Amino acid sequence: MQANKIDTATTPDKKIFVKTYGCQMNMYDSIKMQDLMSPYGYGTTDSMDDADMVVLNTCHIREKAAEKTYSELGRVRQLKESRKKEKRNLIIVVAGCVGQAEGDEIFSRAPFVDIVVGPQSYHNLPNLVASIAEGNKNLIELDFIEEEKFDKLPINTSPQGISACISVQEGCDKFCTFCVVPYTRGAEFSRPLEHVYREVLNATSQGAIEITLLGQNVNGYHGKSVDGNDIKFALLIESLAEIKSLQRIRYMTSHPIDMDDDLIKLHGTEQKLMPFLHLPIQSGSNRMLKAMNRGHTREEYLEIMDKLRLAREDIAISSDFIVGFPGETDEDFADTMNIVQHLKFAQCYSFKYSPRPGTPAATKDNQVPENIKNERLKILQDAINKHQLEYNISCVGKIMPVLFDREGKHQGQIIGKSPYMQSVHITNPDETLLGKIIDVRIKEGRASSLAGEVV
Ligand code: SAM
Ligand code: SF4
Repeated sequence: MQANKIDTATTPDKKIFVKTYGCQMNMYDSIKMQDLMSPYGYGTTDSMDDADMVVLNTCHIREKAAEKTYSELGRVRQLKESRKKEKRNLIIVVAGCVGQAEGDEIFSRAPFVDIVVGPQSYHNLPNLVASIAEGNKNLIELDFIEEEKFDKLPINTSPQGISACISVQEGCDKFCTFCVVPYTRGAEFSRPLEHVYREVLNATSQGAIEITLLGQNVNGYHGKSVDGNDIKFALLIESLAEIKSLQRIRYMTSHPIDMDDDLIKLHGTEQKLMPFLHLPIQSGSNRMLKAMNRGHTREEYLEIMDKLRLAREDIAISSDFIVGFPGETDEDFADTMNIVQHLKFAQCYSFKYSPRPGTPAATKDNQVPENIKNERLKILQDAINKHQLEYNISCVGKIMPVLFDREGKHQGQIIGKSPYMQSVHITNPDETLLGKIIDVRIKEGRASSLAGEVV
């Protein structure tokens, strides 16, 4: 249905509530949706009860994502009904990858939903909202026009604080056989260098001193400069590092096949680039890597690790693993455990394989039984947790520059990030340290954090 233009001048003050599921890219999209609606009189609220518009920004990567969305929609529906009694409207939007994957099915199961919008079309949200205000119903927009999306989104994102996330690349052409991203986020697209630069500059003018560059395969970034030259990811980082007030640069998530030598070397030469890399391997078995269509072997991954350590000895590595991929045998799983024992990651995410509708692996007839997946996940997570604790304990006595970005749960506690992406907390500092990078001596290494004191 054709949506009309919304009138900025006459819209009264309203509130938008966005509930975000999934990754940092979704969090970034949620902020952008709030920013998009702001000129139309929509302020942001943290409470669904205050909202005139509720957006569920969904994730479809694992498990019963669609079911979770429908059950949350049940709650939102009650709110909409109680609003009706007060003669007020509540606009309900399903955004993100569940919207993209389910499409019209959402209206069949939840007819009270007003708008379904995919991750590549949410820049049209204001027009869709205007159309709902005119009495139209059940609007859906699922186009994949990345260039248009980034051109239409406001460059200036709302302040994200001392540490900001900026999306530089979206979508994926790699088609790992377990993954929905190529279907829900579309083809790989990199934003032009100038756009990213301007957004980072804006974030730093709002007080950010750390940025995390985001992308489904962020190190596969291949943007253009204003004069049309190809810009690879290492060059993008080098350009951004020139921004004086920017002190720390991070990026996620990366793919091993895009981990080129320029980027590896940059970890040794660019001091603003933090010594931490999240590089998912998924499995330690070459047979599984092939079945997953990952495009690299275990040996190639190990070679990248060697090169990285040569470039930056203290780099901390994290990874993602999937256990119970169709056809995974005890030997394949032993290969995964072997690489985990060998590399001793600083931290890791691990998941049971979750069949995603529409992906090649979901219809394989050699699915691994749930009890075996559970067993393997437990064994893997025990090892990962042990290594993380050992890594954290190995930091005791070291002095690290910590960027303090939030208050802790306990009285007088503040929390920050070490260069190696660990949470570090201190208690009762003499002065306010939030927003600053301060040298901290590590006193204690715990399962998922460090305790320290200001030097
Ligand atoms: N592009 C990144 C890469 O290729 O390494 C990963 C991005 S994906 C959004 C994040 C993680 O979710 C993956 O690394 C994988 O471990 C996990 N994942 C994706 N699909 C999955 C599935 N069907 N079942 C279980 N885990 C899955
Ligand atoms: Fe999904 Fe990452 Fe594979 Fe792309 S490279 S299909 S995002 S797991």
